[in-house]
Amino acid sequence: MSKRKLTRRQQWRIEKIQQEKAKRAQRQDTAVDSDQLSNQEEPGLVISHLGKRILVESESCQASIPCHFRANIDAIVTGDRVAFRRDDHGQGVVESLLPRTSLLARPDVRGQLKPVASNIDFMILVITPEPAPSSILIDRYLVAAELQQIPVRILLNKQDLLTPANQASIEQLLARYQRIGYATWQCSTRTGQGLEQLQGQLDQHTSVFVGQSGVGKSSLVNALLPAANAAVGELSEQSRLGRHTTTNAHLFHFPTGGNLIDSPGIREFGLWHIAPEQVIEGFVDFSPWRFQCRFRDCRHQQEPGCALREAAARGDVDSQRLLNYFAICDSLAADH
Ligand code: GDP
Ligand code: ZN
Repeated sequence: MSKRKLTRRQQWRIEKIQQEKAKRAQRQDTAVDSDQLSNQEEPGLVISHLGKRILVESESCQASIPCHFRANIDAIVTGDRVAFRRDDHGQGVVESLLPRTSLLARPDVRGQLKPVASNIDFMILVITPEPAPSSILIDRYLVAAELQQIPVRILLNKQDLLTPANQASIEQLLARYQRIGYATWQCSTRTGQGLEQLQGQLDQHTSVFVGQSGVGKSSLVNALLPAANAAVGELSEQSRLGRHTTTNAHLFHFPTGGNLIDSPGIREFGLWHIAPEQVIEGFVDFSPWRFQCRFRDCRHQQEPGCALREAAARGDVDSQRLLNYFAICDSLAADH
């Protein structure tokens, strides 16, 4: 983008706006009287946003404390670990953001990537036997997760809908992803099959459920998190109304351990815009081959000496994945 020279008047206006912002931020800092703050900083977990404040759960006593945050701290998101201090009125101030292990971001309405949630251990891609999952769609979710360096698990829900007619193809599909290195789990929220094992897997971790509408994400949340039913209902209500759909992520604790971060914006995670040239980085199974081609700028299409296509021909790379790779690139190119 070319940099436009600002007129002096524009420059002055920008400076004025920045000064006002800084003043406002300072006022917000002092909204909690520094004298009343305990000197003791303590670690906390960000549960959700409350307008201009955030709800922080103390790691020591599990109490949830509405907190302001210092203007010099980067955007704080649900799932963040922070150091905060409390005052005598049950409020507090976030002093610093502790290091993150992962950050999930998605574009806002203007297409700018905005952080939404952090410290996610598992992105759980939910699929079902019926309707049969599209491997292109699965790969699209996987690419999106890989590009954000969030570990993915594939969960086949509605296991009760496995029949002699669809079982073999579903098992084949799951086996293909296992070969690449993606763990796959199975359950049915209807029969309760596999739920206990699932709970065990989620224990001690922070997860998000993603996947197409109708695969049973709400049912999973209801089954694993009975206390959050109302909140989940409210989330989908807000989603219908189109309010804050990308930012209102909330962190829930599973009664058996582990956390779930949920919001309509996160559930729709995989379906956003990815730059076509980035897609291949999300196909982790291509990485041993894609730099071995005869031509350094090989596009892995018709070029002679393409190591990736040769690997697919030998069966070292799943040829369906290669086809899906081209299909995803084409669909993204068509979006532009
Ligand atoms: P979401 O859109 O992903 O949140 O999906 P929902 O949780 O709303 O579920 C969509 C439909 O699938 C509902 O009618 C559920 O009752 C049904 N459903 C959810 N889990 C199962 C399951 O394990 N087996 C069967 N047969 N149906 C299920
Ligand atoms: Zn190639």
